[in-house]
Amino acid sequence: MSLKGKVAVVTGSTSGIGLAYARAFAAEGADVLLNGFGEAGAIETERSGIEREFGVKAIYSPADMTRAAEIAGMIEQANRELGSVDILVNNAGVQHVSPIEDFPIEKWDQIIAINLSSAFHAIRAAVPGMKARGWGRIIQTASAHSLVASPFKSAYVSAKHGIAGLTKTVALEVATHKITCNCISPGYVWTPLVERQIPDTMKARGLTKEQVIQDVLLQAQPTKEFVTSEQVAALAVFLCSDAAAQITGANLSIDGGWTAG
Ligand code: NAD
Repeated sequence: MSLKGKVAVVTGSTSGIGLAYARAFAAEGADVLLNGFGEAGAIETERSGIEREFGVKAIYSPADMTRAAEIAGMIEQANRELGSVDILVNNAGVQHVSPIEDFPIEKWDQIIAINLSSAFHAIRAAVPGMKARGWGRIIQTASAHSLVASPFKSAYVSAKHGIAGLTKTVALEVATHKITCNCISPGYVWTPLVERQIPDTMKARGLTKEQVIQDVLLQAQPTKEFVTSEQVAALAVFLCSDAAAQITGANLSIDGGWTAG
């Protein structure tokens, strides 16, 4: 399948799953806008590497997903520098693990802003262009935690359940415009986000690192294997194909069987 001529905006694409989406879209010929935090030199190496490897245009936006105006600016930048936003992937996300009575209020606000509200702001800004062109693909990275909960992740689970609801609502609103809106719900994918939560999970549950990996993370997944970022990205590429034109409002699990149980 070719995405040549399409432009994909992927939030939180300087790392992990987001970077895998951007590379997978570029591999199909799409121009891409990268977004996220990180060391400037490393981001530039990634950006220019994508251009060289795949022969597409790749630009970078430093927009902070906690700021509505910067999110709107990111969509404007893609329209201005790449010509359109045909594929929008709301992927930026953070985690914090803590019992609810100790959960820092600013962490709650930050997680709801980045993991949920940023998708609202980006969709709101991107939909008019998609409607005008009569084609669009909106994809959210939700999580198995959009379907089931785990203790100590109150903000994350709330935001992810919220994004599943936002996905369904938008799907209904844009259904007659050849725009689809879906969320992908991975189980555990070995990325910096997962690695960073291990120390707090060790503390909250009184476990060693190996016990957290085996008894908490992989315990949830019947296959006993991590999902890979590339597997998640391949599903997103499929959602952009004509074959997926009637898949909309769906919450697609890719979780080694976690939510089947
Ligand atoms: P990651 O930490 O590797 O990447 C997160 C990305 O978001 C980075 O590019 C980071 O710079 C960016 N980001 C963070 N705060 C930001 C902000 N304020 N503004 C802009 N960008 C910001 O994590 P990941 O595991 O690749 O997670 C990507 C998405 O996948 C998240 O929404 C996460 O909830 C979801 N997810 C991850 C897993 C997993 O097991 N890793 C499972 C299910 C869902």
